[in-house]
Amino acid sequence: MSKSGVIPPSKLIIPLDTHIARIGQYLGLTSRKTADWKMAKEITDNLKEMDPSDPVKYDFPLCHLGISGSCPIFPNPEKCRVCPLLPACKMGMAILK
Ligand code: SF4
Repeated sequence: MSKSGVIPPSKLIIPLDTHIARIGQYLGLTSRKTADWKMAKEITDNLKEMDPSDPVKYDFPLCHLGISGSCPIFPNPEKCRVCPLLPACKMGMAILK
């Protein structure tokens, strides 16, 4: 925490919900099966490779994929075909083989 009492974005850990856990697994951001603190830390550490200063900024877009139904619990080939994350998604690539 800084002297101002504000936690810098680089120190935040992604809030882990069912969408972040599932899509994080699809994208290879975590290899863990259990949605726990270690998974949240692993996903955050991998997101830091894209932006070390603010890895949690990816929370909303990733979570929104699940909430909106764009990435449903049961993978849907039609949705995967138009998903911008397809090239990085193990699940999407597997079901479109
Ligand atoms: S490619 Fe398919 S499974 Fe992967 S994130 Fe996109 S919609 Fe979800």
